[in-house]
Amino acid sequence: MRPDGCLFCAITAGQVPSHRVAETENLVAFLDIAPVRPGHVQIMPRTHHPYFEELPPELAAETIQFGQRLAVALKRIYGVPKVAFMFTGSDIAHAHAHLIPMVRSDDVTSRRYIAEEVVTYRDCPRPPAAEQEETARRIREALNQALGFAILAMAVVHVVYLSAGTPLA
Ligand SMILES: [Zn+2]
Repeated sequence: MRPDGCLFCAITAGQVPSHRVAETENLVAFLDIAPVRPGHVQIMPRTHHPYFEELPPELAAETIQFGQRLAVALKRIYGVPKVAFMFTGSDIAHAHAHLIPMVRSDDVTSRRYIAEEVVTYRDCPRPPAAEQEETARRIREALNQALGFAILAMAVVHVVYLSAGTPLA
């Protein structure tokens, strides 16, 4: 299943360092090393499947649900109206989704929309490790806050339910 030399298998196994923001039994989310925007996260299954259409349906659904949680956190941190979620399959053949806070509407776009015949591309700069760690810390904190709110909301519902069920004198 796992091919030798897959960089993303090595990252999910923790053999290559990354700035992790969240993980589950099946998925790992970490910062892109050359982010399109701060908070650009990749979500990756721990198991090796080259392209997204080869993911078991439950794992594909879990990846999207994980992306939904992260998108809420990214919106809160960066104040953006939208977060892009996409499987491009254009770099390493280990299915992974990109989440990008959309600061501008063309942060994720297509060459086909650009009128000029000659376009010059460049790699996005790689932020220093300390900056990446601070970004990862903020995302982890926002995720934990969201989890805290969910637990608090459940507790409030529980208390209201118990109160409603208690006879008043
Ligand atoms: Zn892999």
